Amino acid sequence: MSSQVCSRCSRIIQPGDLFYSLSIKVAAGFDGVINIKSDKIDLSEEFEKVKSYPEELLNEEVYREFEFVLCPRCKEIYCANPLNLPLGNPAPDA
Ligand SMILES: [Zn+2]
Repeated sequence: MSSQVCSRCSRIIQPGDLFYSLSIKVAAGFDGVINIKSDKIDLSEEFEKVKSYPEELLNEEVYREFEFVLCPRCKEIYCANPLNLPLGNPAPDA
């Protein structure tokens, strides 16, 4: 049986040690609105464009999945700030 390694700090997780599995799924949202800004859009042309993308790339556009193993310490760090937002400073008003 191979030991797990923390994806964040590379610590080896010994058999029987506590660890966490982290799954991140990123899927394109759809609010039901299709934006057709111009009636000049040639749908068959758009379709050809989409068809020419490699399928893998197209799938990555709409759905990505990540799997990580975290040691307890890294799990705490991750959960404290999952989006890795800057801490301490209020978000600047852009
Ligand atoms: Zn770790």
